[in-house]
Amino acid sequence: MDFKKYITVVENFPKEGIRFKDITTLMENGEAYKKAIDEMAEFAKEKDIDVVVGPEARGFVVGCPIAYSMGAGFAPVRKAGKLPREVLEVDYGLEYGKDSLNIHKDAIKPGQKVLIADDLLATGGTIEATIKMVEELGGVVAGIVFMIELSYLDGRDKLKNYNVYSLVQY
Ligand code: AMP
Repeated sequence: MDFKKYITVVENFPKEGIRFKDITTLMENGEAYKKAIDEMAEFAKEKDIDVVVGPEARGFVVGCPIAYSMGAGFAPVRKAGKLPREVLEVDYGLEYGKDSLNIHKDAIKPGQKVLIADDLLATGGTIEATIKMVEELGGVVAGIVFMIELSYLDGRDKLKNYNVYSLVQY
């Protein structure tokens, strides 16, 4: 399936010079959404995944249905102040300044196999921070899956030691 047909590229959003990849138009199409999730889950199938980890908010949109389809668990990664129990916090670099991401400390048990899922790989900063959290909790990152990869930003350079799959590349 030509998934790009269902993704809308919005010029200059959220600011000048950014070509925003809007996946809501893909999600709104039942057949395209299902096929996209099925293909991403196919990559993870033989990896014996215990838990899928996805950063808010669009990491939930891809990570939860993949987890459900495999009978795996799902653990959310959220911005600071959103998770109610004890968290592990990791800082990550943004274009300007930094922010932090949280995960519940008991979300992953040592030795569990983890699939990290997100909508889009840009610079890789978010996923790098997510990997750090999973590994600090003792999880094994068995794979990383994206719906979209912006190849020209070379985010993959940060993920050299991992098994990475993206459905659509720009
Ligand atoms: P990064 O940490 O740079 O890999 O990007 C983190 C997140 O920012 C991605 O998971 C997307 O949700 C969002 N993002 C970055 N660039 C774009 C873009 N061009 N279009 C849509 N979302 C983007």
